[in-house]
Amino acid sequence: MEATKTEEKPKINEIYTQIEEMEHEQLVICYDKPTGLKAIIAIHNTVLGPSLGGTRMWHYTNEADAIKDVLRLSRGMTFKASISGLNIGGGKAVLIGKPSLKSEAYLRRFGRFIESLGGRYTTAEDMNTHTADMEYIAMETRHVTGLPENKGGGGDPSPVTAYGTYLGIKAAAKRAYGNDSLEGKKILIQGAGQVGKHLAKHLSKENAVLMVADIDSEKAAKVAAANKGKVVKADTIHEIPMDIYAPCAMGGQLNDTSIPLLSCDIVAGAANNQLEDEQKHGQMLLDHGILYAPDFLINAGGLMNVYQEYQGNYSKTLALEKAEKIYGTSLEVFNLASSRGISPHEAALQKAVKRIQDIGQLKMSW
Ligand code: NAD
Repeated sequence: MEATKTEEKPKINEIYTQIEEMEHEQLVICYDKPTGLKAIIAIHNTVLGPSLGGTRMWHYTNEADAIKDVLRLSRGMTFKASISGLNIGGGKAVLIGKPSLKSEAYLRRFGRFIESLGGRYTTAEDMNTHTADMEYIAMETRHVTGLPENKGGGGDPSPVTAYGTYLGIKAAAKRAYGNDSLEGKKILIQGAGQVGKHLAKHLSKENAVLMVADIDSEKAAKVAAANKGKVVKADTIHEIPMDIYAPCAMGGQLNDTSIPLLSCDIVAGAANNQLEDEQKHGQMLLDHGILYAPDFLINAGGLMNVYQEYQGNYSKTLALEKAEKIYGTSLEVFNLASSRGISPHEAALQKAVKRIQDIGQLKMSW
């Protein structure tokens, strides 16, 4: 038993190896005994500006999984901001535990840790964190977005994330089928949460044939019923024939096991880090003839929304206008990928990295 426990604890040299490989700037481990707060904040890259990214709460099996998740998520934020033309860097936070742990004291303590970073990291919502949580965090720090609209914030970013994802799905349909109509397309949404439920509305308006899966069967049933969809079992989704698979839950859904089972033309959804291994599984999808819309490109609507708030002049109209560009950028990336003979994920990464390198050089020459 003891040996297993030790294996689960990441050793400091292993953490440095991960940070070095993924090129992070900073990893902050936060602990507060009275409230049970265990938070990790990761800042990946601040060439384009201070980092901005949501806080995810999840009952990770062990600390190593939490560190891996926050490192991958914050890295994704760097590329998301870059490809979206935003002047912010990549950061993200995770809270280890179940949402029942949250209290005013817990969230305010977390806010103080964010404040201690002096603006290098600004937070927002992600899985299992909501506008009400941001209000508590805001009692301790200015470095928080996703505040309610009646408090001068931009509100929950999920509807804008869903809108951008919907446009990304349409762009992928245009590329794969020659036109972007989703009418009659069999689309499976995995995860009927904040983003999934709004995405379902857009797709249902276009008369797509919806399937909804969630580990919480009540949520799946509610979203399916509201959008003329049907519920499918969460554990068998990869085997279901469909036209478009839209992962909107946890990452890592595209891997050695799932990809060979997939029978679809397109994978396009909102979940972060859908590819378990970016290079390998991006290529594997290409080899299987499946068009993959890069997650960090098509799920950037929420970041655009909180960015607008971060700039201090929140306007839903401007946020939606930014999100509308996801359609055109997605088409550009699909073209770039085929002209270079690489996967769309690789093409999107190249585009994002180029902007960071260009701006980095610009700053250095000043
Ligand atoms: P959420 O917590 O509101 O919803 C996630 C849903 O997925 C929950 O209903 C949960 O029960 C379900 N789920 C978890 N594991 C599952 C599984 N194995 N199979 C089926 N369902 C499962 O989260 P959200 O805010 O909707 O975010 C969903 C995804 O989109 C996350 O990966 C998140 O990082 C990403 N994302 C969210 C936003 C945003 O604005 N909320 C922005 C960009 C990216």
